[in-house]
Amino acid sequence: MSELVNRVQPVKVGVEFTVIMPVLNECQILAETYRRVKNVLSALTVDHEILFVDDGSTDGSTDMLHALTRRDSAVRVMVLSRNFGQQAAYTAGLEYARGRAVILLDADLQDPPEVIPEMVREWRNGYQVVYGHRAERKGETWFKRASAAIFYRLLRLVAGAHAPVDVGDFKLLDRKVVEALNRCPERSRFLRGLVSWIGFRQKAVEYVRDARSAGETKYSLWKMARLSIDAFLASSRAPLRVGTWFGAVIALIAFIKRLVEPNDDRSRSPVRESTVFLLHGLGMLCQGLLGEYLSQVYLETQGRPLYIVSQVWGDASPQRYHHRRRSPNPPRPK
Ligand code: UDP
Ligand code: MG
Repeated sequence: MSELVNRVQPVKVGVEFTVIMPVLNECQILAETYRRVKNVLSALTVDHEILFVDDGSTDGSTDMLHALTRRDSAVRVMVLSRNFGQQAAYTAGLEYARGRAVILLDADLQDPPEVIPEMVREWRNGYQVVYGHRAERKGETWFKRASAAIFYRLLRLVAGAHAPVDVGDFKLLDRKVVEALNRCPERSRFLRGLVSWIGFRQKAVEYVRDARSAGETKYSLWKMARLSIDAFLASSRAPLRVGTWFGAVIALIAFIKRLVEPNDDRSRSPVRESTVFLLHGLGMLCQGLLGEYLSQVYLETQGRPLYIVSQVWGDASPQRYHHRRRSPNPPRPK
């Protein structure tokens, strides 16, 4: 990996705040989202931009966003060439944002924009990452709440302190943090883990996560499971050691059994069918884990861009297109 050089250029900082919102088919709610975010930002400063990243919408959201750029010069829109996923959309926004502070906000109003001034206060107090901590989650199924609670705790257990519990993508990042994130080249992105890994002075702000007021979640069970698996793989190598531990424990048991029953033969102690299945299952699980890590390595070495921009609207200053590019080190002098 050290042979790969990340060539993302820092963006020229232009405004005080950027709010980045990824959008996938949110036409039912976009007008209200814009209104609430605009109210909050206008009360804070005139010097702001609202950066929507259209992540392959097909429901008319794209046209609505285009119309917004004509109405408000503070609105910028990046249209991605297809759906690349919420984490890639945020990443795209981070690379295009020009604010001295950047706020990540879902476009479905589950995370209330009215919390932003409190985040800004903490930023002005000297914190470089101010993240929203969900004190309560309204209107979500018990399954989503339970799976999220287990997920965050398990992640913390496995990946150490790098993943605060009950924290989503809603956060404010100082320009320094944004530049640091833009230098992280990995394809498999779990921004929450990455942000806590990066360090800097971090502070939590409590808020109540609302129910979606319109539309429905874009995270199917499968997509959620995929994000969780990616989060684990990206945050920790501990699952790789599962095989080592299983192997060690099983070998130890077999060894002790041999000591206790030195004359053990098949007729006296038949190996149960269920034991064979169990051991095979464990073996395959470990192979599967290995495969997951291997596939991550494969994806990383392919080195494709994480997203592709098809259009940018509402950008008055010269545009800076820079996909995350990686190229091998220049040849060493002989
Ligand atoms: N989103 C996106 N691309 C995707 C999935 C979601 O840009 O592939 C956006 C979506 O429009 C919303 C935010 O990401 O603004 C969060 O998605 P969602 O509300 O569906 O996730 P949940 O809150 O249910 O976890
Ligand atoms: Mg949501």
